Amino acid sequence: MAPERLYLFDTTLRDGAQTNGVDFTLGDKLTIAKMLDDLGIDYVEGGYPGANPTDTQLFAEDRNLGATFTAFGMTRRPGRSTSNDPGLAALLEAKADAICFVAKSWDYHVRVALETTPEENLASIRDSVGAAVATGREVLLDCEHFFDGYKANPQFALACAKAAYDQGARWIVLCDTNGGALPHEVETVVGEVIKLIPGDHVGIHAHNDTEQAVANSLAAVRAGARQIQGTLNGLGERCGNANLVSIIPTLKLKPEFADRFEIGVSDAQLKSLAHASHTLDEMLNRAPNRHAPYVGESAFATKAGIHASAIMKDPATYEHVSPDRVGNRRKLLVSDQAGKSNVLAELERIGLKVDKDDARIMQLLDVVKEREAIGYAYEAADASFELLARRVLGKVPNYFDVEKFDVNIEQRDNAVGQRVTVSLAVVKVKVDGETLMSAAEGIGPVNALDLALRKDLGKYQGYINGLELTDYRVRILNGGTEAVTRVLIESQDESGERWTTVGVSPNIIDASFQALMDSIVYKLVRSGAPA
Ligand SMILES: [Zn+2]
Repeated sequence: MAPERLYLFDTTLRDGAQTNGVDFTLGDKLTIAKMLDDLGIDYVEGGYPGANPTDTQLFAEDRNLGATFTAFGMTRRPGRSTSNDPGLAALLEAKADAICFVAKSWDYHVRVALETTPEENLASIRDSVGAAVATGREVLLDCEHFFDGYKANPQFALACAKAAYDQGARWIVLCDTNGGALPHEVETVVGEVIKLIPGDHVGIHAHNDTEQAVANSLAAVRAGARQIQGTLNGLGERCGNANLVSIIPTLKLKPEFADRFEIGVSDAQLKSLAHASHTLDEMLNRAPNRHAPYVGESAFATKAGIHASAIMKDPATYEHVSPDRVGNRRKLLVSDQAGKSNVLAELERIGLKVDKDDARIMQLLDVVKEREAIGYAYEAADASFELLARRVLGKVPNYFDVEKFDVNIEQRDNAVGQRVTVSLAVVKVKVDGETLMSAAEGIGPVNALDLALRKDLGKYQGYINGLELTDYRVRILNGGTEAVTRVLIESQDESGERWTTVGVSPNIIDASFQALMDSIVYKLVRSGAPA
């Protein structure tokens, strides 16, 4: 039997843009739209033309996407005609391949929020869909609060959906706007809807307020819906929308779906999924969720020694899918619980060739255990582990020495009489027999130290110009005034590669210094900088 086509509709740029703290510029929107297109998404919803200048600009030009570029907006206002509604006019004028209307489908909302009658709401749906269809565009209707509406008044909810379908809407999208529906309810209600509207015209738009937006989307597909709406990384207001980054691999890799359905994302495009997910986080200046299913750094990370040795024999023993299918990688954590097999596997991944009976492996394991006992955490700091391994195996050049550093914090009144705290760092390094001195001011002592350290590394400067600190985490271990501080620093270079380094000391500046040094040296090693 030929697989049935399932369509993916992305609303990162519209519903995802509702996320607290997210504010996309026009440039961001164009970059993300292109990324979604490259990923093989069928529909890209760009925004709400007429509602704000960015979205109006976005739809002022043809964006030439392979995907169906979709504009979103409301059906005509009650009591107005379609020709006398500026909002609707802006939508119809948008340079979009499709128009997605949102309309009420819960009679309670029609009465209370819209202050109109059920009949007028139905007429508004019919008129608006009809007007958009007449422009030759593909039309979708988002039925807002469909599941709550259906529970309250199934006849009315269904009448709203049917009104749009009868007017020629390509898709009737059932929205769980409050995000409170559960998978078995979604499955039942969608099953009822497709008795009236063919499933290949029905979509699901789920929110994640009970952490089940992905499950609800899959339940709708099981019941017959053939379009899934969602966002990258589950972006969206409150708890977010259905996460396409989890849905796509599930559809592609789980036989229940993969055998029955086909989506626009090819196997090759699937391999770019982890990268797409991380790129969005970068644009939002967020550290990617390590525990994100499929694409997170920890999604295929194994800690305990016996699991690691089994994985070495056959990865299927502890992995539900192969990480490379989604562009992720297997990670065997080196930790105090780890056995020799973790260390061996990690060395192999790094590309360090060592005989498995080499005495230095046990030596490395001992050093790892010793250092973890005083607070280092190598499972979270892959780059520091790699440097440690290379040092034990005698393969890290001594690029430069820091002869001394000095960090000052001063609180004083500035020129306009405001109280300010200023940090100043001075670093003296020796590169190639030459002593270089750099000073920098920073927003805090670690920032100042980082800036001073990277300001002038002589002949190595060119290798670290693209180096950037992307995350900084501090943890105080074992409490009290005798506490030890662990600092984890995540860095990134111009190619987008990320790595994490660790430092431990009773002094937070010293711990940060160690992690910063490891990050720079790691970058030099990776870049093949000459000793
Ligand atoms: Zn929504």
